[in-house]
Amino acid sequence: MYNTNINNSLLLWYDKHKRQLPWRDINDPYKIWLSEVMLQQTQVNTVVPYYKKWIKNYPTLLSVAESNMDDLLKLWEGLGYYSRCRNFFKACQIIKNDYCGIIPSNINEFNSLPGVGPYISGAVMSIAFNKSVPAIDGNISRIMFRYLGLRNKTKHNKKRIISKLITFIKLRPGDIIQSLMDLGSSICKSYSVKCGECPLSHSCKAFLHGFPLKYPIQKNKKSLPKKNIIAGFVQKNDKMLIVKRKDGGALGGLWELPMIIVSDNSNTSLFKTSLKNKYNLNLKINNKIGDIIHSFSHYRMNIAIFNCENVSTRIDYSSNNNIIKWINRKEIDNYAFHKANHKLFELLEKNNV
Ligand code: SF4
Repeated sequence: MYNTNINNSLLLWYDKHKRQLPWRDINDPYKIWLSEVMLQQTQVNTVVPYYKKWIKNYPTLLSVAESNMDDLLKLWEGLGYYSRCRNFFKACQIIKNDYCGIIPSNINEFNSLPGVGPYISGAVMSIAFNKSVPAIDGNISRIMFRYLGLRNKTKHNKKRIISKLITFIKLRPGDIIQSLMDLGSSICKSYSVKCGECPLSHSCKAFLHGFPLKYPIQKNKKSLPKKNIIAGFVQKNDKMLIVKRKDGGALGGLWELPMIIVSDNSNTSLFKTSLKNKYNLNLKINNKIGDIIHSFSHYRMNIAIFNCENVSTRIDYSSNNNIIKWINRKEIDNYAFHKANHKLFELLEKNNV
C-alpha cells in the first residue's frame, strides 16, 4: 500500500528545495555509490572536497579497481573510518573480475559485496537504479520516528519505520530518499525543527502532539574510553621512522609514528622493548616532546611523544618493505597517516624538533 499524498508532497518539496551536490542529478551508479560510502558517519560539507578529488583521480570504477590500496588510502586520509575505503576497493575489484566492471543492479548480488550493508544497499538501489528499496540513515530514522510519533528505538519500532518508509517510495524512490535526507539536514534536525516549512507536517504525529523534539528519546552519550599511548619520533641521519598498521580494524593499512598502548605513558621502558622486539631497533630515549589528545569515534587517545635516537649499528635505511620505512620529513605527504599523526607532526614543528 503506497501513500500517494506523502509521495507527492515530498517530491514537490524536493524539486524546489533540494541541495545542489556534485553527486546529484547524475546517472552513474559508481559515483552515487562512492558518495554514499563517503557520507556514512560523515557530514556532507566534509565529504564534498574528498569526493571531487577522488573523482578527478578515479573517474571510473575500473580506475579504482586497477589502483592500489596505498594510493586510495592517501586520498581518503582524514576522512576516517578507513575500512570504508578498503571495502570499496575490494568491491570494485570483484565487480571488475566477476561482473565485467558493471555494478550489479540485482540487490542480492550487490549486497554480497564487501562493505555493503542495508543503508548502502537501499541508497544505491533507490538512487542509482530507481528501485523501491528503503534506506535509513540517522536523518531519515529521526524523521520517521517523529512522523509516526514513536519515542523508543525498539526493534519493533525500527521495523515499523521501515514498513512506513516503504509506503512512501512509489514514484522516484531515489528522490524520495534524498528528500528525506535533505529534510533531516535542514528542517527536521536533532535539536531544532521548522515544522511550518515541512511537507510532512499535515500528518506528522510528533508535530500534531505538540512536542516534536521529544521524538525519539535520545540516549545520553557515553564518555569515550581513554587509551594512554607512547609514540616515538625516532631518527637517525635526518630520517625518521614510520610504521604501517596491519590491515583490518578502523585504521588498518595506514602509516604512523611508532606507538604503543600503555597504562602509564610516562614510562618509556615498554616502548623501548617493543621496538626492539618488533623491528630489532635499539633506542636511546631522550626528552619528551609533548602530548596530544585525539578522539576517534569509539575512544580517545592521550599520546605522549618522545624524541628517540636509533642507536642500532646495522640498519638498512633504504629498506623499502611494507612494514617500516625511514623517510625524510618532506616525504610525509607521500603516505597516508591517521589524523593523530598529523597532530603529532604539528607538535614537532611547533617545538622546532
Ligand atoms: S512536521 Fe516537524 S517533526 Fe514532523 S517531520 Fe516535519 S519537521 Fe519533523
